[in-house]
This record gives sequence, structure tokens and C-alpha cells, in this order.
Amino acid sequence: MPNYINMQPLAHHSLQSLNTLGVPAHAAWYLAVDSVDTLKAGLARAEREGLPWLVLGGGSNLVLTRDYPGLVLHMALRGRSLVDETESHYYITAQAGENWHELVQWTLEQGWPGLENLALIPGTVGAAPIQNIGAYGLELAERLVYLEAFDTQTRQVVRLDKSVCGFGYRDSIFKRQPQRYIILNVTLALPKAWQPVVTYRDLAESLAAQGIGTPTAAQIFDAVVAVRQRKLPDPARLGNVGSFFKNPIVSAVQQQALLARFPQLVSYPQADGAYKLAAAWLIDQCGWKGKSLGRARVHDQQALVLVNPGQATGADILQLAQAIQRDVQARFGVMLEPEPHIL
Ligand SMILES: Cc1cc2nc3c(=O)[nH]c(=O)nc-3n(C[C@H](O)[C@H](O)[C@H](O)COP(=O)(O)OP(=O)(O)OC[C@H]3O[C@@H](n4cnc5c(N)ncnc54)[C@H](O)[C@@H]3O)c2cc1C
Repeated sequence: MPNYINMQPLAHHSLQSLNTLGVPAHAAWYLAVDSVDTLKAGLARAEREGLPWLVLGGGSNLVLTRDYPGLVLHMALRGRSLVDETESHYYITAQAGENWHELVQWTLEQGWPGLENLALIPGTVGAAPIQNIGAYGLELAERLVYLEAFDTQTRQVVRLDKSVCGFGYRDSIFKRQPQRYIILNVTLALPKAWQPVVTYRDLAESLAAQGIGTPTAAQIFDAVVAVRQRKLPDPARLGNVGSFFKNPIVSAVQQQALLARFPQLVSYPQADGAYKLAAAWLIDQCGWKGKSLGRARVHDQQALVLVNPGQATGADILQLAQAIQRDVQARFGVMLEPEPHIL
């Protein structure tokens, strides 16, 4: 039975503790979504009253530049379980409001490795497919089998197989068609013939430094957590959304031209012949590392991470991001694309 009390949205609800940048903003209306019925009721109400709506997970990939004039639907669907087991895989279904990192921890505790490279990524399970979260040599798409979503066009719960999700580097149909699907749960396949993924340099170096030749999943998990804690600021202490910009992809011709002018250029060849440039290097070269603009700052050690030292607003963060974009464009002719949803 749906909980009708929870269907009453709260007015003028603060979002400051619900976004990891910690910037101040209020939602005109706020509803915690703990069932599909609550979600439907919230959407119906927004439609009736002509309000815009926004799905919120952990707020770790969102920049709130102003108050939100509509209804914030805060994903609170909970639950995770083993739904199937074959000779080759464990199949896990997790609801959208589950915490991603806790899901990773839980699968390892159950003896189902395969998500350890994605440890410590903040946010919810439901948001993970939006930008196809990835880190340390693994992307969600490599483990996802299908997901269930509420299709706001047909008003039906639909099952979307991985093949129709259009996953790419920090990309999916959900990013390209915002507001169409509200993700309710995901189903992941974890291989029984598990193989460690240690292709990422920092991870391989960290394991080698500990004298670990053939790591277990738990050792990879610990190493990923340690490297992340060393490299990235903890949003609980210093507001941030992780990497602020995507690493830009350029053609081989453009990469060659840049390399001729900047021999130190950091770039990685892609399977299709294009090159991925290190956005952090481009930003660092423009002198932004550790610099402030107004109340927002670029992290001292990570040029790709914009931080809120305390009093910044979302507008301050946006202003800093735009100044960086302008400088990188002027110097390298490359437009940096923000990774988080800027609202
Ligand atoms: C310190 C730090 C490190 C990070 N490291 C990484 C990393 O290594 N790799 C990586 O990929 N990302 C990383 N991120 C970004 C972020 O953690 C992920 O993008 C995460 O998946 C966002 O989850 P969330 O629940 O916080 O989403 P939110 O910020 O709440 O939402 C992000 C977007 O998804 C939409 N959305 C959320 N839930 C749903 C849903 N159920 N259905 C439909 N739309 C939805 C929102 O409307 C919004 O547009 C990092 C962030 C931080 C702060």
C-alpha cells in the first residue's frame, strides 16, 4: 500500500544539505519518492499545477545555480537483492534510492565481486546509468544488464536492456533525453569467473607499491578507496561534484596540431582513432589550479575539481567554470564540456 502521508510535498524545502557542493538553494516543492505510486502522484500533481519537476539522487552531479521553482522528486526507493544465479553470473537488482558505494560494499561482502573498481563514487544507484559512471578502468555499462524506468511519455514502467541505453563515455540516452525516463532500479550481472581490472595506472601502481601481484577484489576495493581518498576532496569537508569537466575527445588531426604546439600535451588514443585529452592538464596549463574566482575555487591538487570553500553559491561555481572554459578555448581551441547537470 502506498504511504499517502508521504505523498504530501513539502513547501520551500532547503536543498543545501542535499547537494555535495553544499550550495544554498530551495525547492518550491519537495517530495521523497519511496514508491512508484508516490512518484506517479508527484508527477500528476506537478502536471496539474503546471510545475517543472526534477529527480534528485545524492546531488553529487548537480549544480544548483538558483532556487528550483518546481517539484523536487527525491529518490528514496530502497532494496537490493540477488534475483538470479546462472553458471556464469550473479544477477543483482538494486533500487534507485540505494547508495551506490554501499551497494558495491554489500556485493563484495556477499562474495560477488565485479564492482570494486567503482568503489566510493558518491550518489545513488538510480543516477549511475545517467552518465554511465566510470572509474579506474571500469564503467557501469560493463556490468549492467537492464534497468526499469518510469517512461514519462507513455506513463508506463518499462524495462530497458543495456543495448538501448546508448551508453558512452559519461553518456547515455538518459543524459541526451532528460525528463523522459525516471530510473527505478538496475540489474547488474557479476561474473563468477571474475578477473581483476588493473589497467588504470594509479591503481596498478598502488597495488605494486604494496607488493600485490594478483589482487583479490577486496584488495582492489581497498586500493581504489585509498587512491580516491588521497586524490579527491571529501565532499563532506569541501563541497564539490568530482570532475567538473569531461575529458574532451578530439580528432587525430587536431591532436597532432596541438602536440606540435604543446609537446607536453597529455592525450590518450581511442579505439576509433580519436584522442581523449586530459582536461585537468589543459586547465592546469591555463594556471587555474588552486585559483579562486569570487567565492569559488579550483582544488589545489586537482585542476578538474571545482570546490566550494564555504560561502560559494552555484552561480559562483558556474562563473568559475565559464572562466575556465573561456581560457582553455582561447589557448587550445578546445571547448570543455561540464560533466554535472547545471540547473
Ligand atoms: C567526490 C566525487 C567523486 C566523483 N567521482 C566520480 C567518478 O569517479 N566517476 C563518475 O562517473 N562520477 C563521479 N562523480 C559524479 C557522481 O558521483 C555520479 O555522477 C553519480 O552517479 C551521481 O549520483 P547522484 O545520485 O548524486 O545524482 P544527482 O546529482 O542527484 O543527479 C544527477 C543527474 O541525474 C538525474 N537523476 C538522478 N537520479 C535519477 C533517476 N533515478 N532517474 C532519472 N534521473 C536521475 C538528476 O536529475 C540529475 O540530472 C563524483 C562526484 C563526487 C562529488
